[in-house]
Amino acid sequence: MDLADLLPSGSSAHIDGAYAREAKGARFEVKDPARGTALATLISTPADTIDIAVESARKAQAGWAEWPPEERAAILRRAAQLLRARRARLAALEVRNTGRPIAEIGPIDVETAAQGFEFFAALALADEHRARDYPTGTLVMRREPLGVCAGIGAWNYPLQIAAWKAAPALAAGNAMVFKPSEKTPLSALLLAELLSEAGLPPGLFNVVLGAGDVGAALVSHHGVDHVAMTGSVATGQKILGAAAATVKITSLELGGKSPFLILEDADMEQAARLAVIGNFMSCGEICGNTTRVFVPRARESELLERVAEIATAIRTGDPLTEATQNGALIDLAHRDKVHGYVQSAVQEGAEAICGGIYAEVKELPHGAFYLPTVLARCRDNMRAVREEIFGPVMAVLSYEDEDEAVTRANATEFGLCAAVASRDHGRAQRVARRLEAGTVWVNAMLDLPVGMGYGGFKQSGIGYENGVETLRDHQRVKGIYTGLNTVELPFT
Ligand code: NDP
Repeated sequence: MDLADLLPSGSSAHIDGAYAREAKGARFEVKDPARGTALATLISTPADTIDIAVESARKAQAGWAEWPPEERAAILRRAAQLLRARRARLAALEVRNTGRPIAEIGPIDVETAAQGFEFFAALALADEHRARDYPTGTLVMRREPLGVCAGIGAWNYPLQIAAWKAAPALAAGNAMVFKPSEKTPLSALLLAELLSEAGLPPGLFNVVLGAGDVGAALVSHHGVDHVAMTGSVATGQKILGAAAATVKITSLELGGKSPFLILEDADMEQAARLAVIGNFMSCGEICGNTTRVFVPRARESELLERVAEIATAIRTGDPLTEATQNGALIDLAHRDKVHGYVQSAVQEGAEAICGGIYAEVKELPHGAFYLPTVLARCRDNMRAVREEIFGPVMAVLSYEDEDEAVTRANATEFGLCAAVASRDHGRAQRVARRLEAGTVWVNAMLDLPVGMGYGGFKQSGIGYENGVETLRDHQRVKGIYTGLNTVELPFT
């Protein structure tokens, strides 16, 4: 597929339904991580253009807030239809920009983006104010939009992240100014085009471009009322600090180092499959990956043998090929970082029983490929076991008893996800309740149906995406008390 006509080279932003192009602002290249080639050259949005983006959003929002929810919802549903209609083109672009396999991007990224718009369209219709009657008056607790929401995205699931931030913001009657990752900004620009085509009035979804400085300018902007960010804990901490200066409501979807507890009675074939899914989907670049796999010592070799067998059979290759299961990491620097973690684990006594090296894809010699890696003989204090790697690296840890496993699983500053495998559902539920994580899968892995809600405990974040709570997070509540009677003076 020829993508040239899709790529908005030379743009510095998408504001009021159109691309902005300007001479000033630093240029940056958007790369194809599998090919090492440039896909587009964009311009970092200058400060005065960020002001224009926020101002246009504010003006547009005032009108949008007055729209009947039925009409707002209709536009969001149309956006979902257009996403599905454009699935092939959007998926191809997203594959070129992220390096993740095409086999998953259409069915997961594009579909879940569409579902997000449908879900929040439905919630906008179901939303109601609370009212209570008193002898002397009526109290109405009115839900209002916040105003202008800033969205800040990570590079791993760029389209889904942009859609999951835009949908609740717009459904609640807000406008959004979105800054995608500098590495993967293309699909957010296409989403802006698509929303215009769906009938969204100009200014309600503006996109600004560039690196962290552009995000920082947006977060601290006085015209922004709400910040929703997906990214690392370190950036989340900076954003929370910056948002404090102007007291903005802030929602953070941050990193993880999630545990997977295989209990002693687990079906080991099932557990091995879950461990592989939880580590090697999306080239391991998923925040909720269960990268610390806890297995009873007596069953460790059984697990290791099977996960190594499955991981070795995973097909690494051109992400545009349907048969590929492991594409390219986001760039060569990230691949080196992932490899650095593996090397550090080996130096500290772990063994890479498969992978542990760069993958070579003959026709793509410049791609950032890395083989799915299983690290055996891991210990909790290894750097690769404590820190988020964000690549295809599974750390296997053995344990003696369940209490010890739960304690060790919870001994982290992260709290994004966790998983449990057991044949005994009651026991699995009891363990799930003790795990300090916002999402827990029992005999399942990475399932995130629309409406499930997704948000981290502890340093993995604040707030929820993809859930009914998310609409509420994009609203403020105003109490209006209306008196019914002639006022009596209480001073006589
Ligand atoms: P980063 O934290 O590096 O960046 C996230 C976004 O924040 C980028 O758009 C970045 O810009 C921007 N940014 C950087 N500095 C600032 C700042 N001071 N103020 C405002 N914005 C800023 O994360 P990555 O892009 O590397 O993404 C990987 C991380 O995202 C992992 O930790 C992963 O776990 C997490 N993640 C969490 C998810 C969740 O739902 N919990 C889902 C997906 C990923 P730029 O990079 O362009 O400089």
